[in-house]
Amino acid sequence: MNFEEHFRGALDQLKTEGNYRIFAEVERKCGAFPKVRHFHEDGEQEVTVWCSNDYLGMGHHPTVVDSMVRAVQSCGTGAGGTRNISGNNHLHRILEAELADLHGKDAALLFTSGYVSNWAALSTLGARIPNAVILSDEKNHASMIEGIRHSRADKVIWRHNDWRDLDRKLKAVGDRPKIVAFESVYSMDGDIAPMREIVEVAEAHGALTYLDEVHAVGMYGPRGGGISEERGLAERIDLIEGTLGKAYGVVGGYITGSDALCDFIRSFASGFIFTTALPPAIAAAATASIRHLKESAEERAAQKDRVARLRARLDAHGIPHMANDSHIIPVMIGDPVKCRMISDILMREWGVYVQPINYPTVAKGMERLRITPGPLHSDADIDHLVTALSALWKQCAIAHAVA
Ligand code: PLP
Repeated sequence: MNFEEHFRGALDQLKTEGNYRIFAEVERKCGAFPKVRHFHEDGEQEVTVWCSNDYLGMGHHPTVVDSMVRAVQSCGTGAGGTRNISGNNHLHRILEAELADLHGKDAALLFTSGYVSNWAALSTLGARIPNAVILSDEKNHASMIEGIRHSRADKVIWRHNDWRDLDRKLKAVGDRPKIVAFESVYSMDGDIAPMREIVEVAEAHGALTYLDEVHAVGMYGPRGGGISEERGLAERIDLIEGTLGKAYGVVGGYITGSDALCDFIRSFASGFIFTTALPPAIAAAATASIRHLKESAEERAAQKDRVARLRARLDAHGIPHMANDSHIIPVMIGDPVKCRMISDILMREWGVYVQPINYPTVAKGMERLRITPGPLHSDADIDHLVTALSALWKQCAIAHAVA
């Protein structure tokens, strides 16, 4: 086989479809967020980031930064091993206790990312619970889908957020161990699961509940425990999974649950066992961030205010955006080439960075700009974004009328 030809052919196809991924090269400057430097072919420019998952700007928070710096100075850089072989640091255990407390669970277990935590936990549950069936919401994240696939357990897909469909499918599965896997905030449409109904249906069928709160931890609930905390449901959910890389501004993933459940995953999950532990300084920074957001509602309130303001300004300028109850504002474009082009013009001519979201992150025809306002976006930033989008919208409307 001519491997090079094969690689080039596949890439050319992506380019023809408009789905080839181009990463913007940026440098975050501590204290300046959401302004970053953008490096491009012709030099550098300052741009405002509108698509960051550092939702609350905690990656630049002085307490979080200080914790990491102090931990590096005291513990060095890496963990030095897997958790099993010399890498189990005191700071990991402190963070796990903090996470267990955040979700009101007995225990927590850290992973190197949210992706790995889903992949490892679901593949272990599916593989190690005899005769298990995993019932997965049709819009679950790739990390959950891959974990389920790797488990080789039987899988049943239920219609997105449709608890009645889940009920029917649980009934059809009959008397087997059942795991219901779903998310709280779906990151591309920004919609929120009908969690109470899902939990009640799962309980009625004796199913284990697996909830991904990746886009909600730090963001919702009085202490940042996510939608399950906000709705008083955390206690009724068996396993809550989250990330330290989005609202907490660091990196890493975790699960929380009963002692036995976490010990089970700790003991059998290859994605936990056979990899170097997170650096202790990451654990220190994540602990500081979680502690801060347990106490302070200021960042969450400011973020909600920014989201409401941007939505109102988009409405006032007739720029359509998907309605939802979360912090995620999808502006639908519906064409990969146009989406890329709008994103490029925003960056180049307006100093606005919104990454185009194309297939396979969303279905073909559902291409969009995904805007995530944060507490550090000023009124002037919002006005500038809306002016830029309005100008582009008018140009698109004119191009449409002429065509
Ligand atoms: N779960 C969901 C729903 C996600 O959207 C993501 C990433 O965006 C992940 C898990 C993975 O989390 P991490 O970025 O920490 O790997």
